[in-house]
Amino acid sequence: MYSGMTPKAFDWQKKIRKFVKDELIPWEVHAEMNQGELPEEIEKKHRKIALTFGLSGMGIPKESGGLGLSMFEQMIIWEQLGKVTNALCWCFPEVQDWMANHFTDYQKDNYLKPLLEGSKRECYAISEKGAASDVEGSIQSTAEKKENQYIINGEKWYITSANKADFFFLQAKIKSGLNKDKHSLFIVDKNLEGIEHIDTPLFSHTYSHHHSIYRFNNVSIPSKNIIGDEGIGMDYTHSWFRHERLGIAARCCGAAERLIEEATVFAKERESFGEKISNYQAIQFMLADSVNDLAAARLMLYEICKAHDANQDVKILHGKCSMVKLYASEMANRIADRAVQIFGGRGYMRENVAERYYRELRADRIWEGTSEIHRIIIANSLYKRGLQSLIE
Ligand SMILES: Cc1cc2nc3c(=O)[nH]c(=O)nc-3n(C[C@H](O)[C@H](O)[C@H](O)COP(=O)(O)OP(=O)(O)OC[C@H]3O[C@@H](n4cnc5c(N)ncnc54)[C@H](O)[C@@H]3O)c2cc1C
Repeated sequence: MYSGMTPKAFDWQKKIRKFVKDELIPWEVHAEMNQGELPEEIEKKHRKIALTFGLSGMGIPKESGGLGLSMFEQMIIWEQLGKVTNALCWCFPEVQDWMANHFTDYQKDNYLKPLLEGSKRECYAISEKGAASDVEGSIQSTAEKKENQYIINGEKWYITSANKADFFFLQAKIKSGLNKDKHSLFIVDKNLEGIEHIDTPLFSHTYSHHHSIYRFNNVSIPSKNIIGDEGIGMDYTHSWFRHERLGIAARCCGAAERLIEEATVFAKERESFGEKISNYQAIQFMLADSVNDLAAARLMLYEICKAHDANQDVKILHGKCSMVKLYASEMANRIADRAVQIFGGRGYMRENVAERYYRELRADRIWEGTSEIHRIIIANSLYKRGLQSLIE
């Protein structure tokens, strides 16, 4: 067991492992064969269990209605949730600590509390057609202050879960005035006039959470829906990025663990040329490399979570979140590729877990910053803060 494991984290690991195994995994193939959709009563059941656990506020202080878990404990949970395909683990909304820290009372009452209770869902509208890797430099969406309103214009791409959401977190540049061109983050209710659904592209994976494109045509929102002050939106987006990057790394570790477990069981059963394939070195080497890859990624994840919980400088943490997102997503993709190979023809069937992960994990090298962008962040951090800051 990891030397830094705590009794509380261990308890959460056990609880969520059971939830995933008993409730979520049995529905994967159904989801895969039905455009990602589950029967309504099953979806409700999953949401209810997750909400009863308190997962919607796992990182929120207890005084704000959450569980007050450390980043390490949260990622222990996300790691277990990563062991199911088809995004069945996204069965609850998630309030993050930057929301609890920066929302006004009005925003807490109207958005944070409903998210915690599960009566509202959120989605993030940051990327645009010409601005995703270069969010900061290239975003074109604007917010113009008019009396007690902001008028939002722009087009947002690939908004994950928009089909299930009640509101967007939307990033735009201030159109005029003292803060002209500065980035700000807004809460935009989805039912407002001027919000136009443009397209829902099909992607490689089979999720009920779509990644749609929306256009915002002179959408008027109350000025109290800006988060924090004008000009500091990118700070919140960076907080979201860091959290999501750790979450992706954790889910990749969970996925890798499941792939190794399932591929090992298969290798020990499957015979070829009169031998179990597990006896062939070609198979052993693929499994051994996978075990090593996972062990390294998981240690890196846990140590970076501990650095987060020890309040390490946020600029250093930013680089470390890139390190683990990059490493874990590439690790999980390597393992999925090997698992497909070990399963042979079966590994190419959609009902096989390796086939689904092979497609699903590919996105983890693209969203929340591509692998190339993370290498740039790591190199910049190395130049500015030195090697020791990243590896100690
Ligand atoms: C399924 C899915 C869901 C998504 N969900 C969301 C969401 O909920 N909200 C949201 O806001 N966004 C979302 N995104 C957008 C996602 O964050 C972007 O796709 C991602 O950041 C990459 O941007 P891009 O697609 O525009 O690629 P580009 O920026 O066009 O990059 C193309 C290629 O060029 C490379 N590249 C770019 N710049 C450099 C450079 N300086 N040096 C070296 N190589 C470079 C990239 O690494 C990549 O290989 C989602 C994307 C996908 C695929």
